[in-house]
Amino acid sequence: MIHMEKLTKYYGEVCAVDGIDLDIRKGEITGLLGPNGAGKTTTMRMLTGYLRPSSGTIRVRDLSVDADPLAVKKRMGYLPESAPLYANMLVYDYLLFVAHARGLKGDKARGRIFAMVELCSLSGIMHRPIGELSKGLRQRVGLAHAMMDDPEILVLDEPTSGLDPNQIVEIRDIIRSFGRDKTIILSTHILSEAQATCDRIVIIDKGKIVADGSTEVLTYGLGEGRSLRLVLAGADLEAARSVLAPVEGVVSVEGAQDAGPGLTALEVRYLPGSDPRPEIYRRIKATDWVILEMAPKGVSLEKVFMELTREA
Ligand code: ATP
Repeated sequence: MIHMEKLTKYYGEVCAVDGIDLDIRKGEITGLLGPNGAGKTTTMRMLTGYLRPSSGTIRVRDLSVDADPLAVKKRMGYLPESAPLYANMLVYDYLLFVAHARGLKGDKARGRIFAMVELCSLSGIMHRPIGELSKGLRQRVGLAHAMMDDPEILVLDEPTSGLDPNQIVEIRDIIRSFGRDKTIILSTHILSEAQATCDRIVIIDKGKIVADGSTEVLTYGLGEGRSLRLVLAGADLEAARSVLAPVEGVVSVEGAQDAGPGLTALEVRYLPGSDPRPEIYRRIKATDWVILEMAPKGVSLEKVFMELTREA
């Protein structure tokens, strides 16, 4: 759906985006994650045609953002970091203005406004001036603006920045219910938010992609490998260690907390790419111990993010 190739942007001497290659599939919710100044906003501005790349290309389906900017913009809704809303306008007047600007007229305009009022829960505030609304409500109006034309692609720059936890959940619900067939790209600093909302996470640092994958892949496949939490009845730590440490792929077997009385909890670390669970099961089956719990543990996305983006 979206194809970025060697996308690069310089502001004078500063390289904000450094040769990004990224393909985004239809129907995917992709989160761009990165520290301040990583290049997320610049990437989004180039994708939406508001900024010209220094080099590289972006294609949206068969269209080039550079050669067909208007056609691309017609397929996209964009919510910039600070939604540019007119503070003195009433919400209804503003949405009508947006509908007209998008070329919607008469019943079609009213139909879309009604759909946005439903989706973004705006019915109670339609006759209030935008300047009097809370940040969360203003953000809902900004989303209604971005989605007015029922775009195929939605680009949202930090849509939940500065909102309280309740408002964050509301915005997340709106984004998720916008449509499973829509392609959505959002940037965020909030890791749990990316985990809850996105199918795929792309971590950007200093203008480059440093990780790309589903939340699962990022939290289980990166960092220091994987680990299992194992809770056994009838075993002790030393005996368990001598049975499990020789299993192929296992790196260490350590005692873990919160086992409960008479039980032994273990953390079994193993190499990425290996899965020692079947062999662990077979070896324990040959003893008189009972497995009460065997659960893979990932490293947190927060840890992956810090590992990949902290200063060398
Ligand atoms: P944030 O999360 O803080 O919004 P970001 O990941 O969106 O950061 P960008 O805003 O794209 O990052 O900035 C990337 C780099 O480009 C930073 O070093 C920033 O200082 C620089 N930059 C951004 N806009 C401009 C500009 N208009 N002129 C000069 N430098 C800029």
